[in-house]
Amino acid sequence: MKIVEIYATIENMSNNLKRKLEKKKRKQESKKAEKLLSNKIKGIILPDECTTCKTSFDKKSRDMAMSWMVIANEDRKHLVCPKCWDKIKSLNTSQS
Ligand SMILES: [Zn+2]
Repeated sequence: MKIVEIYATIENMSNNLKRKLEKKKRKQESKKAEKLLSNKIKGIILPDECTTCKTSFDKKSRDMAMSWMVIANEDRKHLVCPKCWDKIKSLNTSQS
């Protein structure tokens, strides 16, 4: 999964939430919903460096968001820079 896809997911989630909130304008509800959303975002929060080579990932960089990859396990997310991603890919192809 690409990081841009994750960002898009976050954006979709918050848009859905906003729409729901417009229907229900009660303060209590919106606070609850906000908390829910921030929990969800925390759930897909990314590491800030390459898991393999520790190159730091700039979350504001669009280029990096486009090129870095995320490998998600059940309990962990690995961020992989393009260089390491190439290595992983070549490892996989040489094995097969
Ligand atoms: Zn790397």
